[in-house]
Amino acid sequence: MERPRFDVVVVGAGPAGLSAAMMLGRAGKSTLVLDGGPGRNRSSHAMHGFLGHDGATPEAFAARVRSELSVYPTVSLRAERASGFEREGSDVRVVHGHGSSRARRVLLATGMIDVLPKTPGLAERWGASVFSCPYCHGHELRDRPWGVLARSRATAGWLPTCAAWTRDLTLFLDGRQDLDTDALAPLRAAHVRIEPRRVVSLSGPGRGLLAVHVEGGADVPCEALVVHPAHRQSDLVLFAGLALDGEGAIAVSADRESSMRGVFVAGDARGARAKAISAAADGAEIAVFLAESLTLEDFA
Ligand SMILES: Cc1cc2nc3c(=O)[nH]c(=O)nc-3n(C[C@H](O)[C@H](O)[C@H](O)COP(=O)(O)OP(=O)(O)OC[C@H]3O[C@@H](n4cnc5c(N)ncnc54)[C@H](O)[C@@H]3O)c2cc1C
Repeated sequence: MERPRFDVVVVGAGPAGLSAAMMLGRAGKSTLVLDGGPGRNRSSHAMHGFLGHDGATPEAFAARVRSELSVYPTVSLRAERASGFEREGSDVRVVHGHGSSRARRVLLATGMIDVLPKTPGLAERWGASVFSCPYCHGHELRDRPWGVLARSRATAGWLPTCAAWTRDLTLFLDGRQDLDTDALAPLRAAHVRIEPRRVVSLSGPGRGLLAVHVEGGADVPCEALVVHPAHRQSDLVLFAGLALDGEGAIAVSADRESSMRGVFVAGDARGARAKAISAAADGAEIAVFLAESLTLEDFA
């Protein structure tokens, strides 16, 4: 059976993939967007810092963009996940749903998967009172008592960033012993409290936070907890065996082409900027590059 052939198959319908689809649609390129479900900020009650959409829920944002995309007849969205892709002649074959499609180019906009610490009470507050990006969620909790959970030696380096939102700061070492005295001294001098004990659980009403419970039964008042969790690529990217860089992002050339020819990358999957507006800008830029390369190929 003849498989459909698209100019571009976009895998992932987050800000990067949807923004790319819009530019490709405006250039009249036949584009299939494979929408594998909610994105990285799925647990967030509001998306902040995206001009024109500040405070929108991720669902409302996606619905608005989908309706805007419906204007472009060459763009179609399918609620299917890609399960693999491989080179097929000059094209790339993408397996999805119960079939597959051929594409002259593939754009992976598959985001990143956060791997949260298993601390009881943390996962259900992720995207509300527990977050990684104070620019996204800090303003609403300004001047409240904040905590920062030490996840690596680097934590002491970025903690001062939080002083833009509050000076009431506690660093939870969570039993870690590898943050040396030299790194902690400037924090102590700036009146950051250092809590060395292991964090046992978090509590507060609903998805809000009031206290961090530490080993030994003590409760530390805390209304926002900043955590930089580990993150990983989607299974699709891992199974495809694409080259990754030292940070776990998909390694790309200057043209954002991955280690597989014809497979390009946009958004969080190729770096840790982790802002919806940055991902959308990235998607738009790479879409223009892809559209131009396809137009020139057909013009020749
Ligand atoms: C809790 C939280 C809150 C955040 N809040 C904000 C905020 O307020 N403001 C802000 O600017 N940024 C925020 N961010 C960051 C923002 O969510 C990301 O930077 C942005 O979503 C990245 O966009 P993306 O399109 O690259 O990836 P994503 O939005 O993660 O989208 C990737 C998409 O690819 C899909 N996918 C993966 N594999 C497949 C497959 N095999 N087939 C089909 N589809 C697939 C996924 O289902 C997903 O829909 C937040 C992040 C988190 C974790």
